Amino acid sequence: MQLHCNFLPQDDGHCGWYETLPPAPPSTPLRGTVQADWVVLGAGYAGLAAARRLAELQPDASIALIDAKRVGFGAAGRNSGFMVDLPHDLTSHSYTSSQEADHKIIRLSRGAIDYTREIVQRHGIQCDWREQGKLHGAANERGSQALAEFAKGLNALGEPYRLLDAGQMKAVTGSDFYQAGLHAPGAVLVQPAALSRGLGQSLPANVRLFEESPVLDIKVGKPHVLTTAHGSIKAPRMVLANNAYASNFGQLGLKGRLLPVYTYGSMTRQLTPEELARLGGEESWGLIPADPLGSTVRRLANGRICVRNSFTYNPEVQASASTLQRVRRAHRKSFESRFPMLAEVDFEYTWGGALCISRNNGSVFGEIAPEVFSAVCCNGLGLTRSTISGKLIADYALGVDSDLLNIMLEQPKPSRNPPEPLLGLGVRSSIAWKEWTAGVEL
Ligand SMILES: Cc1cc2nc3c(=O)[nH]c(=O)nc-3n(C[C@H](O)[C@H](O)[C@H](O)COP(=O)(O)OP(=O)(O)OC[C@H]3O[C@@H](n4cnc5c(N)ncnc54)[C@H](O)[C@@H]3O)c2cc1C
Repeated sequence: MQLHCNFLPQDDGHCGWYETLPPAPPSTPLRGTVQADWVVLGAGYAGLAAARRLAELQPDASIALIDAKRVGFGAAGRNSGFMVDLPHDLTSHSYTSSQEADHKIIRLSRGAIDYTREIVQRHGIQCDWREQGKLHGAANERGSQALAEFAKGLNALGEPYRLLDAGQMKAVTGSDFYQAGLHAPGAVLVQPAALSRGLGQSLPANVRLFEESPVLDIKVGKPHVLTTAHGSIKAPRMVLANNAYASNFGQLGLKGRLLPVYTYGSMTRQLTPEELARLGGEESWGLIPADPLGSTVRRLANGRICVRNSFTYNPEVQASASTLQRVRRAHRKSFESRFPMLAEVDFEYTWGGALCISRNNGSVFGEIAPEVFSAVCCNGLGLTRSTISGKLIADYALGVDSDLLNIMLEQPKPSRNPPEPLLGLGVRSSIAWKEWTAGVEL
């Protein structure tokens, strides 16, 4: 079977998380033919965790991990940096589903946080790791009701939280914008590009990382052969960790089940001490909107503010310049409505990044062709979900049993999408409708 990578990772704007890091040491692109025991395609959270875990379990095996870009340049370094432990169905107002299913999702997410924390501590990865939980903010009555529903869900799950009124929200955020809030303590906040880079730089010695090496073609066989413009990797076993880009692999049955969707972030310049005093509030916080299609906001300890909103359906897995301009305007509006006292503070960076979602929140996890293992479809929560999928796919491939693996294997497979053009019409109109109903939360 021959797979062609029709759509390759693009630059998609300028990501503040990545651009504000110190320059990376030179990369090692793939040159010539490399033989390995394993090849992992994609060095986002899923690929980094899969390669690390394979190497931990098989210290004598050689593992090749390959990415089209530098580690941390793709979506893994472009997100808002929330390691979310609680259920967080982006399509549901209560964010939750059934209690039993929710408990299992929490175990998977906390498994990812524990695994990552241990690596961050062991290797001293400087990624502004903050165990400070997340705020949920409501800007109107509808949002407050959504938070009340969320609180009921958390009560039923026995999960702690704290409710905040408008005054308490202002004391944290400095903004009058939020009428109510809910603080859930289990989430971890990180600098995502720094975390990704640190994970890439601390891989075990038997992982060879090839960056800036877009894979153009894959021959699935014995061995699998992944070809780039300047070389190839041959390996008998392969892990797919290319998330949204796997949506084009029709021969593996992925094309009709995955939805490549983009969301977007902007980051301000560093605020001056006078601007920070004018803003007030706490030094660092992360806020998720009460409405799933609203704006995520983070204030960073380095004095910058990040805004994330807007979703687009992008089957070609790239963001156009005109879309980036449009979302920058949307971010500006959201920023000014929350922080009118900082109206003169510009955005320094605006970027987009690819998510892979499925209509039923399912993932492609398991052996999907002989010796082809998949840890694909983050459903928008890759910091935890992709990390744990990557770790567990290595366990699964090497026969290491665990409760978490059993939970992962129980998760639904992505349901089938309607055919195009119905799919595109449906997804685009659903996003437009939900953004319209999100109203002021945007
Ligand atoms: C603006 C924004 C905000 C977000 N906020 C959050 C958040 O707060 N919390 C959260 O959990 N998630 C968030 N996400 C989602 C999160 O970034 C993703 O879920 C996560 O990156 C998925 O990890 P992954 O390893 O599965 O895939 P990816 O990170 O997408 O990694 C896939 C890798 O495959 C590589 N690749 C693809 N094709 C090829 C090829 N042909 N050759 C070589 N390499 C290839 C890509 O370069 C990429 O590095 C956000 C995303 C965005 C864009």
